[in-house]
Amino acid sequence: MKFSYKILLSCIITMAAALGIGGYFFVNDVFEASMEREMEQAADESNILQFAFETAALNIPAKYDLLQNSAVKDIGANLEKRGQGTSRLLRLSDENREILYASEGFVEDTKLLASIEKQTRVYRVIHPDDHYYIQTGAEIKALDRTLYLETMRDVTAVYAERARGFSVYRNMTLLILALSSVLMLFISTWLTRPIRLLTKAARNMTDGDYSYRAEQVSRDEMGQLTQDFNHMAGVVEENIHKLEAEVEAREDFIAAFSHELKTPLTAVIGYADLLRSRKLDEEKHFLSANYIYTEGKRLEAMSLRLLDIIVAKRGELIPQEMDVELLFGYLKDMFGEKKEHPFVFRYEPGRIRGEADLLKSVLLNLADNACKASGPGSPIEILGENRERGYYFAVQDKGVGISPEDCKRITEAFYMVDKSRSRSHNGAGLGLALCAEILKLHGSKLEITSTLGEGSTFAFWIPYEEMKDDGTKEGQKSGSDCIDGPDPAGGSAGTGADRPL
Ligand code: ADP
Repeated sequence: MKFSYKILLSCIITMAAALGIGGYFFVNDVFEASMEREMEQAADESNILQFAFETAALNIPAKYDLLQNSAVKDIGANLEKRGQGTSRLLRLSDENREILYASEGFVEDTKLLASIEKQTRVYRVIHPDDHYYIQTGAEIKALDRTLYLETMRDVTAVYAERARGFSVYRNMTLLILALSSVLMLFISTWLTRPIRLLTKAARNMTDGDYSYRAEQVSRDEMGQLTQDFNHMAGVVEENIHKLEAEVEAREDFIAAFSHELKTPLTAVIGYADLLRSRKLDEEKHFLSANYIYTEGKRLEAMSLRLLDIIVAKRGELIPQEMDVELLFGYLKDMFGEKKEHPFVFRYEPGRIRGEADLLKSVLLNLADNACKASGPGSPIEILGENRERGYYFAVQDKGVGISPEDCKRITEAFYMVDKSRSRSHNGAGLGLALCAEILKLHGSKLEITSTLGEGSTFAFWIPYEEMKDDGTKEGQKSGSDCIDGPDPAGGSAGTGADRPL
């Protein structure tokens, strides 16, 4: 059964019960008041008759010193006659409760007569045939005799009035229920509208329309529920999009990984086949073996990088406080003497918390990439500054630069801007992915500023605050921020999404 019908039904049942019980008590109350009045009148009538009988007995001629039964009958008949027009019914009985006189239509039943006590008046309501009567009984002292007087007062009209009251009330109740049912149907339909809208939204979402939201039509608890539902739908939609993006990224990763494996393996298999199937001269033999060796080395380097990334992803950081001199000194040792690219080191002294080997690896990768992207003689700057957020590292080159589209994907595993250039340098597009993972562990991320043909800056902050146990910082996203063109204000914009592996 629909919820709106349930509301309607419960309202009808409640109203019917309330009107029924209320009506019963109201009609009954009126009836009881009328019956009380009738009882009083029956008692008054009995009193009057008692007095009239005693007066009449006293007026009997003096020759009789006894009140004869015949005289009792006469007085009874006389009293009944005098009450004509009011349908007076009476019965007179002697000391032995033998009936001496009874009006026509008086009940034959003598139960009340038997219960009359000295100087008391007794009552009962009787229901002979279709009529209702109040029967009264009282003792009369007339001359030397003790007699019993009973009267009957017709109260059928009072009972009929009660029945009519019930009937009117029942009809009225039914009419009120019918009219209020129509009204309640509208009200319950209106009240349950938010539920219908929520159901529709839930169904649409189940069918795959995650952007569908329930319309909020009230500000009450239902409105709050709709708001909460929509909020939940928003979170679900966001998570689904994230999952979809992750699945897509994983698929891309697997495709790129297979491709990166296939290329060197094809060369290795081809040259190995050549070596085993033909007798080659010494030079060709050396070239073939050399191909196998260099491609094998590339595969080895790639698998080691992948391993590094996986370890960085799953690993926990054991941060230690260190002097930045440790990192810059290492870079100077590695690149300071390079004749091909003049390296410029400009850094402020400072202390940071992190894992030295991992940070060395990041700086090494960035410096190495800068060398690969720059022409011979092009200078490369390594900067270090104490800033508000943390210690700032930057590697700047004046090389080929990166387009905004490439910039967004550059930290994805196996993503290479110029595949042939990368491969010729034994790269597989894994260096920046590794850097992103390491920086994530340090609660940081790469910020890339680049202009095609002019050069790039790869920067990151090592925040000063304390690290969490898992090595990440709250509220920090991993990946990279990509800024097009030179970065005059040092601000950042662009993507910061997690990259697969
Ligand atoms: P790889 O190990 O193959 O160099 P990376 O992940 O380090 O892979 O780099 C991904 C891609 O980004 C490379 O294809 C490279 O061409 C490009 N890249 C990295 N650093 C720079 C830079 N400083 N200037 C221009 N291109 C860069």
